[in-house]
Amino acid sequence: MGTTDEGGGEAVRPWYADGLRFECTQCGNCCSGPPGAVWFTAEEAGAMARELKIATAEFLERYTRRVGARRSLKELKIDGRYDCVFLDRTTRPGKAICGIYRARPSQCRTWPWWPEVVESPETWEETKRRTPCPGMGSGRVHPLVEITIGLTGS
Ligand code: SF4
Repeated sequence: MGTTDEGGGEAVRPWYADGLRFECTQCGNCCSGPPGAVWFTAEEAGAMARELKIATAEFLERYTRRVGARRSLKELKIDGRYDCVFLDRTTRPGKAICGIYRARPSQCRTWPWWPEVVESPETWEETKRRTPCPGMGSGRVHPLVEITIGLTGS
């Protein structure tokens, strides 16, 4: 049975109310593929620059590019795919890890709890197949509260 919201109506129980399985295998697929954009806030730019021990201006110049009115992290074209500039495929053989993991922006931290990904079971399965992300649907169950926090970008 659904719960009653403050307006007196029935609160909609999301399809993932019982949680979703996800455990990253460090394949790097979500940080690569067709050209894309990794957005970040000014605070996140500062955090990434500090992680790299460089000034924010230098960080923006070296690692980001303008996309319309915004800036995205750069990508490197490798074997026909576009890797995030910080994707590290060499430090751990067989793994692809984030070179600025502790300071990665919200867009990366909240994957795969994105509204367009968890919109429906179909979008979840389609994203899992298209990325492809072997971590989606396997590993530990992430409870609803954790997914909701991810969806709000916290
Ligand atoms: S595609 Fe999935 S399993 Fe692979 S690195 Fe990204 S989150 Fe991890």
